[in-house]
Amino acid sequence: MKKFVDVILPLPLPKSFTYSLPEEYAEEVKVGCRVVVPFGRKKYYTAIVCNVHYYAPTEYEVKDISTLLDASPILLPMQFKFWEWLANYYLCAQGDVYKAALPSGLKLESETIVECNPDFEAVVPLSEREQRVLDLLSAESEQCVTKLEKDSGFKNILTIIKSLLDKEAIFVKEELRRTYKPKTEARVRLVGTADERRLHILFDLLGRAPKQLALLMKYVECSGVLGGGTPKEVSKKELLQRADVSTAVLNGLIEKQIFEVYYHEIGRLDREVKLVTELSRLNEFQQRAHDSVVESFKEKNVCLLHGVTSSGKTEIYIHLIEETLRQGKQVLYLLPEIALTTQITERLQRVFGSRLGIYHSKFPDAERVEIWQKQLGEEGYDIILGVRSSIFLPYRNLGLIIVDEEHENTYKQQDPAPRYHARNAAIVLAAMYGAKTLLGTATPSIETWSNATSGKYGLVSLNERYKEIQLPEIIPVDIKELHRKKRMVGQFSPLLIQYIKEALDQKQQVILFQNRRGFAPMVECRTCGWVPKCKNCDVSLTYHKGINQLTCHYCGYTYQLPRSCPACEGTDIVNRGFGTEKIEDDIKVLFPQAAVARMDLDTTRTRSAYEKIIADFEEGKTDILIGTQMVSKGLDFDHVSIVGILNADTMLNYPDFRSYERAFQLMAQVSGRAGRKNKRGRVVLQTKSIDHPIIRQVIANDYQEMVGGQLAERQMFHYPPYYRLVYVYLKNRNERLLEQMAFAMAEKLRAVFGSRVLGPDKPPVARVQTLFIKKIVVKIEQNASMSRARELLLGIQREMLEDERFKSLIVYYDMDPM
Ligand code: ADP
Ligand code: ZN
Ligand code: ZN
Repeated sequence: MKKFVDVILPLPLPKSFTYSLPEEYAEEVKVGCRVVVPFGRKKYYTAIVCNVHYYAPTEYEVKDISTLLDASPILLPMQFKFWEWLANYYLCAQGDVYKAALPSGLKLESETIVECNPDFEAVVPLSEREQRVLDLLSAESEQCVTKLEKDSGFKNILTIIKSLLDKEAIFVKEELRRTYKPKTEARVRLVGTADERRLHILFDLLGRAPKQLALLMKYVECSGVLGGGTPKEVSKKELLQRADVSTAVLNGLIEKQIFEVYYHEIGRLDREVKLVTELSRLNEFQQRAHDSVVESFKEKNVCLLHGVTSSGKTEIYIHLIEETLRQGKQVLYLLPEIALTTQITERLQRVFGSRLGIYHSKFPDAERVEIWQKQLGEEGYDIILGVRSSIFLPYRNLGLIIVDEEHENTYKQQDPAPRYHARNAAIVLAAMYGAKTLLGTATPSIETWSNATSGKYGLVSLNERYKEIQLPEIIPVDIKELHRKKRMVGQFSPLLIQYIKEALDQKQQVILFQNRRGFAPMVECRTCGWVPKCKNCDVSLTYHKGINQLTCHYCGYTYQLPRSCPACEGTDIVNRGFGTEKIEDDIKVLFPQAAVARMDLDTTRTRSAYEKIIADFEEGKTDILIGTQMVSKGLDFDHVSIVGILNADTMLNYPDFRSYERAFQLMAQVSGRAGRKNKRGRVVLQTKSIDHPIIRQVIANDYQEMVGGQLAERQMFHYPPYYRLVYVYLKNRNERLLEQMAFAMAEKLRAVFGSRVLGPDKPPVARVQTLFIKKIVVKIEQNASMSRARELLLGIQREMLEDERFKSLIVYYDMDPM
């Protein structure tokens, strides 16, 4: 009997599609395997089999799959269940989830660009077709798969591409390159024997080449070659760095046949770590908190650990992880930000060594594919540390998920779909495995707080800092007044300058927080008021001094800063506002002797970049660290005595119902970076709204009062946690048409959801990447049936898209928006 498969395509389609199986695959194909299928006009996609059966579809003509890519499934059954939940809850297609979930190395598509491997040697002979594709590719050096398909005239090109990849004849550009090449490290060793006598001869010999001699000495030191026993292996890079000489010096020694270079293959995933034999002992408060969490898990699936900054929550997590591993179960440790992984990785690795796997988007795709595959087997990591996308990894036996800094809004994916919240999704994922979820933070999100106080989640509080150092003293500074009296030095109050100076004198460190990157958020002509705007988006361009360019933070558009105003030809063009780059500039002028570093999106584009910023600060090579919200999150430094919040007002004035909550969290968190180890730290909080209730609450560190106030407002104005929110986004190039569409949509929504539908309105940024945007807000009662609401929402979306007039409309929902 003919067999069929249902597949999920990496496309926003409302359902799966059915294909027939050619005889050759009939036995091999299993649910969770990837297949290449034709879809639409002459396109091939890697799809995932979600069902194998005997029923031919009736509504369309069924096609054969082109090829099977996997001998065994790359998805576990639980993952399908999870995908289904995500697509359903967040009102998107399973294809959207598929695209977000798999590392790109597992999602070969027709648009993928491949290139030749210049070092390719055919160990296994190539087939005629493979050779032909390779020849075509060689002529161009790199090419898109679709183009190769056209040029070759071969139908199942992805099969051939896959096999060429397996044989290492080609690479997927950038992404997959490293999967197919072992990673090696160049190392240096002496040629021949290395006893004392020979070394003396060498020292004499090099008497007139001081640099070469220095290098040799350094090698002797690093390798411990004179200590007896086997000498340690010495990395070339490290040796050159430590001897502070150039490659030319080493090459000289290689020519003299004193040294040779060899390559050592190093595992990409296993880094060397020193293990500690014992866990740190929890103090009395931590122990009590730990026990309460364990107790709470007996009754509830989710527990909130509300522990002040530096109370040692991470240490409690480590104990809980250890206990979970002892039960033979896996742990997922979620972090909101890549910049945080470095420090936590180190702390976890010291205890758990190679049982820990790390997963995030700044890792080369090859590593992510490797981790994915490892997770499928019995040999998977016991602990995965990662950012939000690590909820998509395969887990065999999950026992605990830790969501660290659970209040962070970076847990919510904005674009593209699925617009999921990793904390909430993690809770659902854990429940599917019968696992527990621990939410940890010093400043819980209001939603979580309300779930914990209503009894839905367990609640454990930890109010003492480890070593019982007091929380920092927060000193408000009224900069409105100081500006008026002309007492400000740029963006710095005299008090902040004095404290920074004192800290530097005492060899302490300083963190300065400014929640805007770039130099100036806006540039303006003083003569006529002209402001350079993005040509694609409805925002003013930010000036970046380092690259001397104006850029758009929404679409990346860049524009040369003009010498004269294009509107009036005046030359009096000034900066308005200030970002981290400007703070850095000014600080360097004020404290020329201090070592200054900046941590924001612009300085942390690569993994090594942010690792270096953090390491330098840890090691005391940096005195002052300036940054955006990146510096506010869970970082743990020992010697920070002063934190400066340069301007609290941009946070307070942001037009969103969560802005006060967020302002409080940000300020409390960044303050928490001060005085963690030795003595009480101080925070200078500069603001123009000195009497603002949030400022008062931050100073008093009164989380409960903040929550109380916010909850009252949320209830009054029908916001979460009292109501569920759905934002409806509509986009179109044509503003007038968009307006029509938005009104039509709002009318349909009102017909079903009544007066709890607000809008359409213009969002704060009403045009992005040439598309105009309208937003409609739908508020749904907490006790309303969500499955019914979902059905209605999807029905309305479908009606809109099927309307002849609205062919060009983009419309989507954002469930539980942040
Ligand atoms: P939190 O996550 O609550 O901000 P951390 O876990 O980072 O706090 O702890 C703050 C600092 O105190 C860290 O440097 C940590 O190593 C140290 N610390 C906390 N608890 C212990 C403990 N029980 N034993 C040793 N050091 C601890
Ligand atoms: Zn002008
Ligand atoms: Zn733009």
